Amino acid sequence: MKIKRVPSPNWSHRPTGTEIDCVVLHATASDDVDQDVAWCRDKQSKVSYHVIVDRYGAIWDLVSVDHRAWHAGVSSFCARPNVNDYSIGLSFANKNDGVEPYTEEQYEVGAALVAGYIRTYPAITLDRITTHRAIALPAGRKTDPLGFFMQRFKDLVQTELART
Ligand SMILES: [Zn+2]
Repeated sequence: MKIKRVPSPNWSHRPTGTEIDCVVLHATASDDVDQDVAWCRDKQSKVSYHVIVDRYGAIWDLVSVDHRAWHAGVSSFCARPNVNDYSIGLSFANKNDGVEPYTEEQYEVGAALVAGYIRTYPAITLDRITTHRAIALPAGRKTDPLGFFMQRFKDLVQTELART
């Protein structure tokens, strides 16, 4: 995996004792990953993901998963608020127009990353891989990652986990 270290200042500490137990998938809603990364590294934006997976499958590593990235906003997952506190935020570089397909590299690298997270944080189960669309409040506030094939992705994660 090709990993680019591009630290973002937009993070805070997770509440003490927080167990990381879910992954939130996003799309950047843009056609320029350099701009996406620059936005996440701009203190003014107050936005970040833990990682962005670009269209070629390169991983832009912005915030340590030990820390709380600022990707979900007002949100709730399984009736629990403040999803940033306990999640990992992974964004795919994609226009989020429902037309641009996510690349094979994005599915494969994203699945390998999430399988790695599950190995490290076993409380993340397959049904705890969610989307910004599903957790954003009020409902309908976000649509990303639009056009992403979640079942296909989970199958890939499962295949990756079955490897020894
Ligand atoms: Zn999002």
